[in-house]
Amino acid sequence: MRIPLVFMILLAVGIPHLAWALPQTEPVPGGVVILPLGTNGSASPQVLFDGTRTTVVRGMKQEWHAVIGLPLSLKKGDYTAYIDYGGQQTPLKFTVLDKQYQTQHLTIKNKRKVEPNQKDLDRIWKERKKKKKALRHWQDAKPELSFIKPVEGRTSSQFGLKRYFNGKPRNPHGGLDIAAPEGTPIKAPADGVVLIADDFFFSGNVVYLDHGEGVITYYAHMKEYRVKPGDTVRQGQVIGLVGMTGRVTGPHLHWGVYLNQTAVNPALFLSPPPPESP
Ligand SMILES: [Zn+2]
Repeated sequence: MRIPLVFMILLAVGIPHLAWALPQTEPVPGGVVILPLGTNGSASPQVLFDGTRTTVVRGMKQEWHAVIGLPLSLKKGDYTAYIDYGGQQTPLKFTVLDKQYQTQHLTIKNKRKVEPNQKDLDRIWKERKKKKKALRHWQDAKPELSFIKPVEGRTSSQFGLKRYFNGKPRNPHGGLDIAAPEGTPIKAPADGVVLIADDFFFSGNVVYLDHGEGVITYYAHMKEYRVKPGDTVRQGQVIGLVGMTGRVTGPHLHWGVYLNQTAVNPALFLSPPPPESP
């Protein structure tokens, strides 16, 4: 069945924060757009953005919404996602606005964590493959987007900062840093399944959780993790402890949130969102 034209011309900016477990809309690089899909059908419609399947959730009035993560590398402009009806793809247009992220300079005492040797690079390569595989994981379970904050504490680094380590440009900050004393329990923000619990070169002790339909969360620099791959976790369950393993300047939780294999701003999933500075 075709969806009405009104739903195809999308005003992504105008959709308010919906109380039923949706992130806030911020149609910018590193942000999230929520596209209404109408109320057709009982089965979850399939939506693709940039060739990748996106999360689709159902609202209180039974209307479907695509929840799409926008890569930090995206330029402002008009974009199209596609809703797939039995192989026939209908375009869903939306606009991405500009956002300027601030620059952050960090000094790392362990120089190898900034300029790894060949053995380190081999390890980093393997870890990247493992991470990409985890992000591609698709579980058809109803996605969990109603998050609690995994650790209480102040934001020590915002998502999206342009980063320099010891003066060298590196990838932008793909998560939200929450400062907390070493040993503070880290809670699962929502029900999920553990995809990875491991020790990574840059990220230290890490856990990846799958919350269904491409909603993946990520915890780094932990002192220790307390789950193993395949474990089912409940919202609020302790999955590890805050630490300073990997490339860090002090104890904190690096919290990442991924939609359609794309890192997005975790602050959009918290209510109320933490302040924009520092
Ligand atoms: Zn971080």
